[in-house]
Amino acid sequence: MSNLDLAPDETVCTGPADGSAGPVHELLVGREVMLGPRGMEVTRTLPHRDRRMIGAWCFVDAYGPENVVGGAGMQVPPHPHTGLQTVSWLVGGDVLHRDSLGNRQLVRPGQLNLMTAGRAISHSEESPADRPPILHGVQLWVALPNRDREIDPHFEHHADLPVLTEHGVSTTVIMGELGGTSSAAQVYSPLVGLEVTLAADVVATLPLRPDFEYGALVLSGGVRVDGVALGRGPLLYLGSGRSELALGAGHPSRLLLIGGEPFDEQIVMWWNFVGRDHDEIVRFREEWESGAQFGTVVGYAGNRLPAPPLPNSRLRPRGRLP
Ligand code: MN
Repeated sequence: MSNLDLAPDETVCTGPADGSAGPVHELLVGREVMLGPRGMEVTRTLPHRDRRMIGAWCFVDAYGPENVVGGAGMQVPPHPHTGLQTVSWLVGGDVLHRDSLGNRQLVRPGQLNLMTAGRAISHSEESPADRPPILHGVQLWVALPNRDREIDPHFEHHADLPVLTEHGVSTTVIMGELGGTSSAAQVYSPLVGLEVTLAADVVATLPLRPDFEYGALVLSGGVRVDGVALGRGPLLYLGSGRSELALGAGHPSRLLLIGGEPFDEQIVMWWNFVGRDHDEIVRFREEWESGAQFGTVVGYAGNRLPAPPLPNSRLRPRGRLP
């Protein structure tokens, strides 16, 4: 997915000043964003005015369930990325990914498409012609730490992620590790991404790492998260300092839990780029506009996305917290 905002704000992503924020309940209400002129509406809960990152997770878009038969569905033309990983996760439907490395990969519910941009990549995402009617999913970004952010780009598809099932609760380890079971997805900083599926009238306790901060997003139904009744829409920031998390559901429900070690680098997010300062973002933008560095996406029926104009002010990292 792309940030298709035609006038994107400068976003300075910072983690908290230290990892000792402790357990909290902080409800981050998202904003509705249109993905382009033919696009779908998504709810963006990260970055948020009050909290830019959770671990290295720096972008959370949720979309659907939406009927995509008859309309264009998801149509995100070729666009660039730097300094991040895109994490594509579906609850329903299909999305076809193409990138400048020549990968063409359909992602389906329960599978992970993970694209590591490193120094430069471009890709498109679209609803395929023979798509199922309902599209429902999330698009997440993970910031790469400074030591890895200029690595070669690569793409991973994981169709067989580990699923831990117990007493009406199934947990898919999308990224990272839970209770000694690890996803094969490549990560560059200590983090976790889990999808927890709860049957009706179950309670569960998930083991957490006290040194991680966490956030929870309901994908379907409603879940009591540490006693907080959480429905679809907002992201519940849970802070750090927890060794477990109580979950419960009255009806069949699905929850995304993301977490990680608080990210202690300042990063500038602008449009689809993650960089470290203004000049770097200017260079990324010029390289995309000139056709250099980002390669070519073959097979997408449409033009590539032009970069929006830069803001008049200089993009620069600010404090660690808003
Ligand atoms: Mn993208």
